[in-house]
Amino acid sequence: MNDQQLLDELLGKHKAGTLKPADRYNIPPQAMPQQDGVTRRSNVSEVATGYTETQARLEALRCLGCKNAPCMEGCPVRIKIKDFIAQIVEGDFQKALDIIRENSLLPAVCGRVCPQEVQCQLPCTVGKKFKDVEKSVSIGRLERFVADWGRKQKEKSVPPVAAATGKKVAILGAGPGGIVVATDVRRAGHDVTVFEAFHKPGGVMVYGIPEFRLPKAIVQEEIEGLKKMGVKIVCNFVAGRTKTVKDLMEKEGFDAVYIGVGAGLPMFMNIEGEHLIGVYSANEYLTRANLMRAYDFGKGADTPIAMSKRVAVVGGGNVAMDAARTAVRLGAEKVYLIYRRSEKEMPARVEEVHHAKEEGIEFHLLRNPKRIIGNADGAVCGIECLKYELGEPDASGRRRPVPIEGSEFTIDVDTVVVAIGNGANPLIGQTTQGLTLNKWGNIVVDENCKTSLDGVYAGGDIVLGAATVILAMGQGRTAAAAINKYLETK
Ligand SMILES: Cc1cc2nc3c(=O)[nH]c(=O)nc-3n(C[C@H](O)[C@H](O)[C@H](O)COP(=O)(O)OP(=O)(O)OC[C@H]3O[C@@H](n4cnc5c(N)ncnc54)[C@H](O)[C@@H]3O)c2cc1C
Repeated sequence: MNDQQLLDELLGKHKAGTLKPADRYNIPPQAMPQQDGVTRRSNVSEVATGYTETQARLEALRCLGCKNAPCMEGCPVRIKIKDFIAQIVEGDFQKALDIIRENSLLPAVCGRVCPQEVQCQLPCTVGKKFKDVEKSVSIGRLERFVADWGRKQKEKSVPPVAAATGKKVAILGAGPGGIVVATDVRRAGHDVTVFEAFHKPGGVMVYGIPEFRLPKAIVQEEIEGLKKMGVKIVCNFVAGRTKTVKDLMEKEGFDAVYIGVGAGLPMFMNIEGEHLIGVYSANEYLTRANLMRAYDFGKGADTPIAMSKRVAVVGGGNVAMDAARTAVRLGAEKVYLIYRRSEKEMPARVEEVHHAKEEGIEFHLLRNPKRIIGNADGAVCGIECLKYELGEPDASGRRRPVPIEGSEFTIDVDTVVVAIGNGANPLIGQTTQGLTLNKWGNIVVDENCKTSLDGVYAGGDIVLGAATVILAMGQGRTAAAAINKYLETK
């Protein structure tokens, strides 16, 4: 029986009310179609190509529609998951999209990049039944299917905007948090301007997450939607330098400000050789590759990037995976991923690790750089590493990596990408008197995302530390609701 025949049979039972939980458990989890590991090494197109309609409806039929909906508890923005999935079963994709949009403004993004395996899919009853989260209903893939269906209709409605209130709101940073705040505050009729430091809006969704995981066109469509709502977007504006928060409020007449400038400050290892030519922070590497289109080598890329042959990426998170997989696509013959713990402790998503391995990236686990070696021209020619073993758990609960003395070895490389974490962007904290920060430089907010200053709100990575798109969106919604309330009475 082919997939379509299976779907027809199951839909028949569903309509007759005779589809039992046991029938649902028997439906095979639908694999995501994707470009094969070899083909995709030489292109930047999206790796996962998306469910077909038949696959989506089969996957949706796996959902038991649990009364207590544990999946919804796992979703940071509380999407009515079982309701939208039920609409996919019925084939009413517009209704499914409307349900998702009640809580999430960026479903095509979240369906692609949310870590569902530790959020909505973790408590899924189907996954629990099989004691395997990979067998949970693929909520993220279904969200993506519905969002992509909506994009294909090309008639995305522009959210209605209330009558002008005469109040002005400034949004600093055009990442997912800023985009959500701009949408919700503009809906209430306020005059909204987004100020972005880069020449393009979108935040990490544009400069960090590579095209092969999140096509830039998707983010661009969201930005166009904002503009159609009447939101003004000013790029090349570094808040704290071009103008301060105080200037915006006291001289430019903004009644409220939202700070969503993210966590883009790269951390380094502070080892010998980090100043050498060919050492990049992952942020710089990815920004050059993504935002400046360095992958177009010579074809109009404003900012070049090294044409590396042998690349070492240091780190074990999603950012490290993105950098390593980008290096492959930029033509590197060998890409090594160096991580000081074992694969079990890697913070990267399992899917990313799996994809990286399929693309031929060599994992050097329980290894960490001791120094970076340079040649006579001051360029990287090697990286000296130490072997590690795991000791007792540390404060993070993960086993502490302990170096093995005398275990040094060298790998010949011409490029090193450091992907060991990012800190809060410090500029606004440094230039805004009275703004309370925590010891890591993140802005302190209350439950409404209000900062220590009246009329000033903040959210996303600048508050949470490097976190996720969905958490930035969730805080954006909270902040927007608080701003709208604040402006009602101001
Ligand atoms: C490489 C990489 C991969 C990631 N992968 C995932 C993933 O798969 N899934 C996931 O959920 N999350 C992922 N994340 C994390 C996620 O992207 C962030 O948590 C999220 O983008 C934070 O949103 P934000 O709106 O707070 O800030 P950002 O997206 O960081 O946007 C902040 C914006 O503010 C601008 N800005 C900074 N300073 C100023 C200033 N002074 N004035 C004006 N503008 C300024 C920046 O240029 C930027 O455009 C990844 C992060 C990175 C770096």
